[in-house]
Amino acid sequence: MSICYMDGAFRPVGEGSLPISDLAVQRGVGVFESMKIINKKVLAITSHMKRLEDSAVSVGMKIEGSGIIEEITKIARDGACRDDCPGGGKDAVVKAYITGGDVILHGFFTNPRYFLIFDDGFLVSPEEYCRGVSLQPTAERRPYPTVKSINYLFGLMQAVGRDDVLECLYCPDGYAAETLRSSFFIFREGTIITAPKGTVLNGVTRNIVIELALADGFTVEERQAKVSEFALADEAFITNSLHGVMPVVRIGDTVVGGGKPGPVSRRLRELYDANIERWLDN
Ligand SMILES: *Cc1c(COP(=O)(O)O)cnc(C)c1O
Repeated sequence: MSICYMDGAFRPVGEGSLPISDLAVQRGVGVFESMKIINKKVLAITSHMKRLEDSAVSVGMKIEGSGIIEEITKIARDGACRDDCPGGGKDAVVKAYITGGDVILHGFFTNPRYFLIFDDGFLVSPEEYCRGVSLQPTAERRPYPTVKSINYLFGLMQAVGRDDVLECLYCPDGYAAETLRSSFFIFREGTIITAPKGTVLNGVTRNIVIELALADGFTVEERQAKVSEFALADEAFITNSLHGVMPVVRIGDTVVGGGKPGPVSRRLRELYDANIERWLDN
């Protein structure tokens, strides 16, 4: 069963609630992080907490000197070790949220709230990794791409009613940026290509995968792939903290890599799974 931490205590998730006066409810003001828990440890918590702080500050939340990031870090670690952590803390997810609170003062959110939710690990079926997933390209752009905002509405709308696609792929001006909630890569002419930081979210899994790929002798180029390159790519894949490396076999009407996951995404997934302990709770 999922649990949460809210108002100073751990409790069943159904007993956590946010006042309707909170700007998260009224205006979608909120930032968050999703982190994997493996064997009671939170994966790459330091990187996630840094990004949470950066997101909060850049949207105008007044958190400097509040100790809120330190508190959230401690609660995430404590929750991962609790007996009632979902999945016994062996394979779980912790999501940490900071919301706008009730007050806007000169454009600043002066009294942000926070809460955490602990869920069962996001279970991706082995078949999904074997088959690969499809993405829906859209010319929309994710505003303020370095902020991990709770507002996924306009991205979700790009794939409404589609049961054949996992999520949208943002391709403003004909260049691939990232998907709804993952970093995006293609493999073409022996090179792994992914969008540079600053144009997309600074993905924690993205950075781990790049580090592992470079150490394994791959060439990595940080640029946004052209939409016209999808058809020429040998492979495509996406990464995020919950499902690691996931092969992509179709983007819109374009079949990638003959419609089957290829050896590069398989190799990177093996490397990720084999090395992930190095990023546990450091
Ligand atoms: C969460 C997210 C990612 C993936 O980031 P990780 O740190 O690897 O989990 C990528 N893009 C967007 C838009 C996201 O919201």
